[in-house]
Amino acid sequence: MTIRNRIAFQFSLIVAGILICYSLIIYVRSDTYRQTEFFDRLEQRARTVVRFLTQVEELDRNLLRIIDRKTLITLYDQKVMVFDSGNRILYSSIDEDSVAIPVSILEQIRQEKIVRTWMGEQQLFGLYAPEGPQPLTVVATAYDRSGQAELRNLRRTIVWSLLGGIGLTVGLGVLFAGQSLRPISRINKQVSTINARSLQQRLDEGNRQDEVAQLAINFNQVLGRLQQAFEQQRTFISHASHELRTPLAALKSELQLSLRHPLPADQYQHILRNLTDDTDRIIDLTNSLLVLARTLETPKLQVQHIVLLDDVIFMARDELLNAHPHYRIDVRFSDLVASGEHPQVRGDELLLRRMLLNLFDNACKYSADQRALVYIAQDRNTCRVSVTDEGIGIAADQLPQIFDPFYRADNARSHDGYGLGLSICKRIVELHNGRIDVTSQPEKGSTFIIVLPTSPTSTF
Ligand code: ADP
Repeated sequence: MTIRNRIAFQFSLIVAGILICYSLIIYVRSDTYRQTEFFDRLEQRARTVVRFLTQVEELDRNLLRIIDRKTLITLYDQKVMVFDSGNRILYSSIDEDSVAIPVSILEQIRQEKIVRTWMGEQQLFGLYAPEGPQPLTVVATAYDRSGQAELRNLRRTIVWSLLGGIGLTVGLGVLFAGQSLRPISRINKQVSTINARSLQQRLDEGNRQDEVAQLAINFNQVLGRLQQAFEQQRTFISHASHELRTPLAALKSELQLSLRHPLPADQYQHILRNLTDDTDRIIDLTNSLLVLARTLETPKLQVQHIVLLDDVIFMARDELLNAHPHYRIDVRFSDLVASGEHPQVRGDELLLRRMLLNLFDNACKYSADQRALVYIAQDRNTCRVSVTDEGIGIAADQLPQIFDPFYRADNARSHDGYGLGLSICKRIVELHNGRIDVTSQPEKGSTFIIVLPTSPTSTF
């Protein structure tokens, strides 16, 4: 069942329920009122007859019957009968005296004094009058023809108006439900045309106010993020293949050159050295790509230990100095750290080491004196590591892009690199719930600042 039909159905059910309840109340109230009113009229008749019989002694019964008939013509099939204590008829408003009033009813009247009951379709009012010369039991019966006709008419009116009302409710329900859900159907149609190649498409956001418009706005935002992710992936792949192709092409041409003519041994030596350098570059690049891919695909850290940040800083420094002995990396501590407090964080030691090594390497690589100053500080909740150099710096307009994969600032192109290091650093910091900031001035130098949350127990 579609939502439209379900809403229309539920709406109609509620309205029909209310209508039926109201109709029943009206019908029952009318019927009760009619019955009570008719019993009252029968009571009046019965009391009048008793009054005549007990108070006007010289009244002829035939005369009373005539008066009765003349005054009681308003009631259909009415009979008034008076019985003595032996159930003998003393008076009857009709000629035939044989109207059977069950003895049980007469007994009930004598016991209860007043009885209002039904005898088949007829309403019966019974009255016990013991006050005269002899106790009388009066029974007045009649059929409320006009009341029943009114009731039948009311029944017909209620049934037809109920059917009409319910039909109208169903029709209007379907119409309004369809109208309210039309924007959703429109969105549905638009969404069904979106695929991986048409992520630039956007949904109509309507009035930007109601719930459906909010849905469209949120969906458009998701589309925007998806499109961005797809584009990033596309540029990432094309950059990666471009970066891999360059050293591979160099490798191939050197191999072709060495195969073309026999060469002296020292030239082979030279070519093999070049081949080794190119292979190193390829290994370096693929390693970086692998690390980036791995860090990107994990939403949170797999390994989490307490890591002493100062130890990792020294390990990263030693590793870098091993590969580049001419680099200089000075490490300084804030007073708190120097006084024996170990700055410690929760995370993956290998990843943290890789991140720091990257930053130290950049600082040395991009500065003429190949020197980096590392400063460690901490407060109650965070550890801060800043890496400063006095190198080539980064132009302000290029600063926002340096964390994008494969981005390299113009002034860095003459140096080795692929533009992957900082994107890896950023991802590692994010995985450790920290942040990375940079301040830089061209020709003056740069400072990269890492802020990581401290792990609770920070003891020496
Ligand atoms: P790579 O150093 O291999 O090019 P990175 O991702 O580490 O890649 O850095 C991206 C870019 O950011 C660099 O190409 C360079 O333009 C800039 N950069 C990073 N660190 C520094 C620095 N210490 N000084 C100047 N520029 C830097």
